[in-house]
Amino acid sequence: MTRSYSSVCINKWFRPVASLAEMRREGLAEVAVGLHLGGESLGTAELHIFGKGNLHTESVHLRNQFRKKGHGLPFYKELIFWARKLGARRLYSSVYLNRRSRRMWRDKLPRAGFIVKEAQFSSTCYRCKAKSKQTRYYIELCPTST
Ligand SMILES: [Zn+2]
Repeated sequence: MTRSYSSVCINKWFRPVASLAEMRREGLAEVAVGLHLGGESLGTAELHIFGKGNLHTESVHLRNQFRKKGHGLPFYKELIFWARKLGARRLYSSVYLNRRSRRMWRDKLPRAGFIVKEAQFSSTCYRCKAKSKQTRYYIELCPTST
């Protein structure tokens, strides 16, 4: 059976968001993404503007009863879909990775066909305000960029 997921990408006024340019124009550092399946809300996540024209995932949460049921990868695919649609060049991983999210970036996304790279990155997220250099995973969303 094919599961048909859907998702929404909204700003803090619960309105759909069209692009990174629109986020900047409205002074938004982040958007929220909600994952749905069969009318049920499975979980939520944030996408933060990060560096020049990039986004990073944050607070990716599946509701308790929907964990460990194979919804994680579809959720990340939706996040990648939205990051690309908003016009981001790269999608970076969250500030802090736990065992599950690290496994997602390191094992599951590559196995699903995504080219996941690693880089030391000095954070410039206005939302997280993390200062330290961190190793982050990321995916190139625009195939022509280097
Ligand atoms: Zn952030």
